[in-house]
Amino acid sequence: MFWIDSSISYLIQTCYSAVVTLTLLLFWLSNREERELLTWTLGCSASTLFSLMVVHREQMPMLLSVLLLNSLSFGFVTALWFGLRQSHGKTLPWRSTATVLVVALALLAAATLDDRLRIRLMVANTTMLLLCAAMARELRSSRRLLASPGHTLSALVLALLMAVFVVRFGVMLLAPAGSNLLADSWQRLLQFTANLLFFALVLGGLLLTNEKLLYRLAHLAERDALTGLYNRRALLDLAERAVGQQALLAVLMIDLDHFKTINDRYGHAAGDAALRQFAERLTQSCRRGDLIGRYGGEEFCVVLPGATASVAQRVAERLRAAMAAEPVMFGQQRIAVTISIGLACQRPELAELEPLLAAADSALYQAKRRGRNRVELAGQQAVQAAETAVASV
Ligand code: GH3
Ligand code: MG
Ligand code: MG
Repeated sequence: MFWIDSSISYLIQTCYSAVVTLTLLLFWLSNREERELLTWTLGCSASTLFSLMVVHREQMPMLLSVLLLNSLSFGFVTALWFGLRQSHGKTLPWRSTATVLVVALALLAAATLDDRLRIRLMVANTTMLLLCAAMARELRSSRRLLASPGHTLSALVLALLMAVFVVRFGVMLLAPAGSNLLADSWQRLLQFTANLLFFALVLGGLLLTNEKLLYRLAHLAERDALTGLYNRRALLDLAERAVGQQALLAVLMIDLDHFKTINDRYGHAAGDAALRQFAERLTQSCRRGDLIGRYGGEEFCVVLPGATASVAQRVAERLRAAMAAEPVMFGQQRIAVTISIGLACQRPELAELEPLLAAADSALYQAKRRGRNRVELAGQQAVQAAETAVASV
């Protein structure tokens, strides 16, 4: 039968627990806004303290050692769970958790005073299982990073941990009366495995935070700060890919009319509000899969994959009419904003992105020249001829 010297295993545990705590602390110091890192650091400190103290438990009064050591291990697992909630931006259920933990500690105290080792271990085991189940529930609620390595690792480790606690409960239940469960090698092996798994869970948490930061960074790099739409570079990258994949595609180049006058008359903040509200309306009036970006100051670009000229014209006209009909709001002020749109559709001589954009741009300037608040289609005659040819096939 295997045998693990508990003082050596706890010494190893103290060392890796201290290293993990330090790593978390350094990670938190360089990412102070990620509150979960601080919570996990505190939790791992409790775990380090636990493994330092557990070797000396014989020197402490029994009741004190049971309450202290179990408080530290409950604190560790609660901190892992709370940190996960913080990383999802959720509030912490302090009151209900404290109630459950106080009840568990009271039961542990009663079992210790009554000298019922089996009950004591079962209560501790069940409390850990409940905390792991709460963590698993929390992990399931995060849909955004569902397929990420951090999520997969954490879910796998949590499943193993819960299995360990269930098996441990079974071993306790089936142990012959009067046996010393604390010295049982199965119990010790399961405890050791659970401790290792908890640190794998901390690594899973670190991966999750890292993935969250990378996602945020990617979002910042490809989005325009004012409107939340794609910025010019991201839009061009995505549009380039769409042009390569689609046989049918339309580009709208949109410019707000006399926008300088809006800034001059109502102030720059009102101009910003107008840009934001226009971006919202634009998003609402497009389909999923359409690419919407802020191309420059008050200039926007929309790529409609799969759209024919007549569909794109309908979309553009609807958008133009909606803007002309409904002023944007800045506080109590209603500000009339109109837009001009240049539209270009993919066809043999406009197969690449660059000429398509150039064609949409010159159609936009045509719209401006012809009085603004209107939609112009690039190469109107060529497009109509192409659509007629397709219809007659
Ligand atoms: P046109 O109808 O010919 O397009 O006239 P316009 O006044 O809209 O065009 P112009 O290019 O003369 O002015 C664009 C203005 O948009 C100038 C610039 O200060 C303003 N602008 C660009 N970016 C922003 C922004 O982020 N916020 C605000 N408030 N204004 C911006
Ligand atoms: Mg303008
Ligand atoms: Mg402009």
